[in-house]
Amino acid sequence: MKIIMLGAPGAGKGTQAKQIADKYGIPHISTGDIFRANIKNNTELGQKAKQYMDQGMLVPDELTCDLVMDRIGEKDCENGFVLDGFPRTIPQAEALDGALGKIGQKMDYAIDVDVPDDNIVGRMGGRRACLNCGATYHVVTIPTKVEGICDRCGSPVVLRDDDKPETVQKRLAVYHEQTQPLIDYYKGQGILKTVDGTQPMEAVFAAIVEILG
Ligand code: ADP
Ligand code: ADP
Ligand code: ZN
Repeated sequence: MKIIMLGAPGAGKGTQAKQIADKYGIPHISTGDIFRANIKNNTELGQKAKQYMDQGMLVPDELTCDLVMDRIGEKDCENGFVLDGFPRTIPQAEALDGALGKIGQKMDYAIDVDVPDDNIVGRMGGRRACLNCGATYHVVTIPTKVEGICDRCGSPVVLRDDDKPETVQKRLAVYHEQTQPLIDYYKGQGILKTVDGTQPMEAVFAAIVEILG
């Protein structure tokens, strides 16, 4: 099962992708997590990506596409994968289709987690992320058991630099301009499914499971 998560920044893609990965036994591939791991390890890719991420802009396709194509070629992706945060532009979607097409495969589902902009700002301001294991929480809706500490690995959870209000507005504008056109792209392929992302986390997941079977 090969799945794409679509939706605005903060819509809940990552939260749902992790649960899908657990239930269906497929890897969760988050380009944001890959970039943040590179920043943490101070790699050349990390240094380049950070300049864009800090400004709420997309990392250029040249730095993004190859790394995803390499990742989905790994052995653990044989039975499928869930992509979270990729593709984010039409050229990225075309690169993905091209790479899969060469091996006679295609994506199965593009799930749009639909949340209006008005809800997003609150989601992002309350988001707390573990930079060690990638888990995400929300101070109000999905709190950690111990305040400020990741349930999964015990590291501190933080407000990401790019979740500060000024950057969130920029990221939303970038989303509408560059990523939203993917909704029509996948509608055209007949694989788009939309779920109401304003529901509680469990209800959103139930709607997704209904789609995936
Ligand atoms: P969110 O989960 O809030 O949508 P992500 O963790 O997916 O955020 O991404 C954080 C940042 O990493 C993005 O704002 C962007 O700068 C960069 N990024 C992640 N995925 C991509 C991608 N597919 N193409 C370009 N930039 C990306
Ligand atoms: P994305 O990957 O799309 O950027 P996240 O999965 O990181 O989004 O979720 C953004 C924030 O909203 C996080 O703080 C997360 O804990 C919270 N969140 C996720 N899903 C829901 C939901 N259904 N209801 C309320 N808050 C949610
Ligand atoms: Zn953690």
